[in-house]
Amino acid sequence: MKTLDIVIATNNPNKVREYKELFEGYDVNVTSLKEEGIVSSPEEGGTTFTDNALIKARDARKYTSKIVIADDSGICIHALSNFPGVYSARFMEGHSYEEKNLKINEMLQDKDDKSASYHCAIAFVSDEEEKVFVGTCEGVIVSPVEGPYGFGYDPIFYFEPYNKTFSLTLPDDKNKVSHRGKATRLLMEYLKQKIEKNEKMK
Ligand code: IMP
Repeated sequence: MKTLDIVIATNNPNKVREYKELFEGYDVNVTSLKEEGIVSSPEEGGTTFTDNALIKARDARKYTSKIVIADDSGICIHALSNFPGVYSARFMEGHSYEEKNLKINEMLQDKDDKSASYHCAIAFVSDEEEKVFVGTCEGVIVSPVEGPYGFGYDPIFYFEPYNKTFSLTLPDDKNKVSHRGKATRLLMEYLKQKIEKNEKMK
């Protein structure tokens, strides 16, 4: 497989780190917007993760001829009608995740159902096409457990099969089961097939 250059259209350094880890072992050279010198921060006006991922990928694509991927992700808390969902980054903007995570616990105080799911939509945009790959990961909201790994809502996202929160889960283990990991593997399967068929990708 020849090396593919992919720009990951995000300004979130945690996502850049996770994508670089996820693409390790594949013949892919991932660069961030910052590394490409691209300034792109479109308004995420969509109502779904898919819409927003496409908005971000299409915008970044205006500034590069490389393949662009962008993800939109977030946490859906089932007892809160899937809130904050696409608003995960914007919920309590200006406050720390420590505060956001405490607030979510407070909002769930009198709810029996503590289940939640992480969602990730990755949009792939090239000259020829646009495709979106989706991954989800099921968990349970718990009181914050600060740990050395992950970011964002990971201190309150308890993943039952591992018997711990993602804040205590090694990056490789998180990537094996995470929403982002699953969506990335679908993207890679697709890219591999295209490369095998020798299709042009620009
Ligand atoms: P986006 O940049 O608009 O896609 O915002 C995604 C937001 O969802 C992040 O800023 C986090 O708040 C949350 N999020 C998505 N994936 C994760 C994850 O793997 N761990 C923790 N929080 C996440």
